[in-house]
Amino acid sequence: MTIHTAPSHPVTNTHALEFAKAWDYAPAPETAKVTIEPRYGLFIGGEFGRPTNVFATINPANEETLSEVSTASAKDVDRAVSAARAAFPKWSALPGVERAKYLFRIARRVQERSRELAILETMDGGKPIKESRDVDLPLVAQHFFYYAGWADKLKWAFPSTSFSPVGVCAQIIPWNFPLMMAAWKIAPALACGNTVILKPAETTPLTALRLAEIFAEAGLPPGVVNIITGDGGTGAALANHTGIDKIAFTGSTDVGKRLAKVAAARGIPITLELGGKSANIIFDDAPIDQAVEGIVSAIYFNQGHVCCAGSRLLVQEGVVEEVIAKLRIRLQSLRVGDPLDKNTDVGAINSKLQFDKINEYLRIGRDEGATLEQPNACELPKRGWFCRPTFFTGVQQSHRIAREEIFGPVLAVMTFRTPEEAVMKANNTPYGLSAGVWTSKGSKVFETAGKLKAGVVWCNTFNQFDASSPFGGFKESGFGREGGMQGLRPYVKLG
Ligand code: NAP
Ligand code: MG
Repeated sequence: MTIHTAPSHPVTNTHALEFAKAWDYAPAPETAKVTIEPRYGLFIGGEFGRPTNVFATINPANEETLSEVSTASAKDVDRAVSAARAAFPKWSALPGVERAKYLFRIARRVQERSRELAILETMDGGKPIKESRDVDLPLVAQHFFYYAGWADKLKWAFPSTSFSPVGVCAQIIPWNFPLMMAAWKIAPALACGNTVILKPAETTPLTALRLAEIFAEAGLPPGVVNIITGDGGTGAALANHTGIDKIAFTGSTDVGKRLAKVAAARGIPITLELGGKSANIIFDDAPIDQAVEGIVSAIYFNQGHVCCAGSRLLVQEGVVEEVIAKLRIRLQSLRVGDPLDKNTDVGAINSKLQFDKINEYLRIGRDEGATLEQPNACELPKRGWFCRPTFFTGVQQSHRIAREEIFGPVLAVMTFRTPEEAVMKANNTPYGLSAGVWTSKGSKVFETAGKLKAGVVWCNTFNQFDASSPFGGFKESGFGREGGMQGLRPYVKLG
């Protein structure tokens, strides 16, 4: 698409390019080589089957096929559910301390193989290597360690009541944090004595399959975790299978609503982690330089492919010019490009479909009358799907770019005058996943955070995660929590 620089923009793209070059680093490509099989079968009952009915998984940074993976048919889903069912009695009867040993082993193996896993995550999904290496992989290992620690202490998580595992869990995950979402779901399920069938997203199946290898290496009994690849049809077949006892889903609100109906009809429990349109609120007493850095991590790192991304920026009127001016400068120095380069800040958009969706929103935003700015003038790679960090000013709350989830590096900037107006605007959304509050006053932090209808509120920071901290949404962002002691609750029956 043609990129229009806003007329009010004081810096031309030529200047921005010179600026970016002045800050340029020599290329620092990740050099380790990762072996990828030409084809993968499904992981059912502790072993990989023969590849069948394959589809290509693509590197979004160069549009090349990385491998071909199998589409699980209804029959395969049935086999996976049977394998999980068969493994359940023995696994659930194991003392917690024994289940913990498997989880500790998996966590350590994830650490040992973390470089390989990070590279694969970046190649299959497009996120910068520094994100997958420094954020995703440490959190993946941390979640397995954390829930390994809980496996023999469940009676303290659920005191004064009896509890038992739910049974066979269907877990369906999206493409933005493939390994992390797998860990968030598998680790607490296994700690509580459940067995699992995991369905990774169509565009990012490779690291889940690598995780299957790790389960086998860790000696996890066959059938305790089964990994079946495929498209949305496979996910639907799994969720609708009558042999499952629970659905755990992370993905879009549309599919989440459909699955809620399936679970309600069968009377089985479901947890949903869905979309978001989170507000990042900057008060006029905030440390502006740090806040600008917070905006960048809230929406531009990981290409905005973050469900809890701070995609609506609410700035108090008195500092809006300063914030925008500093944001413009900061965006000029972001490096957009090869995700395998260790200097890259913003990698590739996960798929052509998502790339088209983002570009459609750029058009919608302009048509609605908002002003688009893309100060960054990095030379983008010739192939692959890349989007420059973008922000819109002149945004009204009624604009679609302020209401709908774009899931890309696109920020809608709005202003407010009073704290009450900030809270009202932040809550003016069907979603409620996260929010950010930037101020130098502690009292204002607590006052504001208490009124925000969001599952997570970050103060003077954004997008920080920890295995011991619960994560989840309000309203159309879903229900149920993952992480922390609260993350155990969906995986037990009480009483
Ligand atoms: P999606 O289309 O809902 O897909 C999520 C998963 O569900 C994928 O594995 C998908 O398979 C599968 N699926 C698709 N249709 C299905 C159906 N009818 N029945 C059962 N499963 C089905 O979402 P996405 O585009 O992959 O992910 C982006 C969305 O996820 C965003 O809305 C984002 O906000 C949300 N998200 C939320 C969180 C959170 O924690 N709240 C975290 C990450 C992402 P295929 O990939 O094969 O289609
Ligand atoms: Mg891919």
